[in-house]
Amino acid sequence: MAEDLLEKGAIMQRDKATYAIAPHIPGGLITDFNLLRRIADVAEKYRAQVIKITSAERFALVGVQAEDLDRIWQESGLVPGAAIGLCVRSIKICPGTTYCRLGVQDALGVGLKLDEKYHGLPLPYKFKIGVAGCLNNCSESSVKDLGLVGAAKGWRVLAGGFASGLNPRLADVIATNLSDDEALALAARVLDWFKQAGKKRRLGKIIDEIGLARFKEELGLPAE
Ligand code: SF4
Repeated sequence: MAEDLLEKGAIMQRDKATYAIAPHIPGGLITDFNLLRRIADVAEKYRAQVIKITSAERFALVGVQAEDLDRIWQESGLVPGAAIGLCVRSIKICPGTTYCRLGVQDALGVGLKLDEKYHGLPLPYKFKIGVAGCLNNCSESSVKDLGLVGAAKGWRVLAGGFASGLNPRLADVIATNLSDDEALALAARVLDWFKQAGKKRRLGKIIDEIGLARFKEELGLPAE
């Protein structure tokens, strides 16, 4: 039976014959505009059926052939985005204080550090991260396994959200008023905790099972 090709970042399509691939573009940020030309050239050359802009800030090239995958990655100079598999998947980052007039925290700076360190990190289950530069929360951190939301006095860190399925869950706030370094350190602790927990379900479901107070306690956070 036809299957996804995890090592090539290729997802089997509905026709059971072709694949979709989604190159990793950290933060969905493109400063080298030739990258767009390369993606378009590769899509045209290898007869992709469509380029789909995904909610994870990626371009998905849909409808490419298995035998072309290696050449596509080589010629594009890109690496697969972690769109499938048990790992840190997307890290959705808003423009923050770099570009957005409403930003109060450096979402791109912190988000890209998270992306560099954790994108694709193997974990017991899929794990999504969101980073937003202000309380408008445009990168939807409330429905990510780990979310950072910028406030005037620092980062608000949320854990346990997910949007998929029939019973989505809003994340719990686990810390407030953190500096960049403190927020990054807490993100590391949450990821490490999730890895050690070793359970094949979303973080929010684990929090519901053990209780938020215990989760925070095990992270070394105050109950309130
Ligand atoms: S969350 Fe705030 S900083 Fe980020 S894009 Fe939205 S309004 Fe701008």
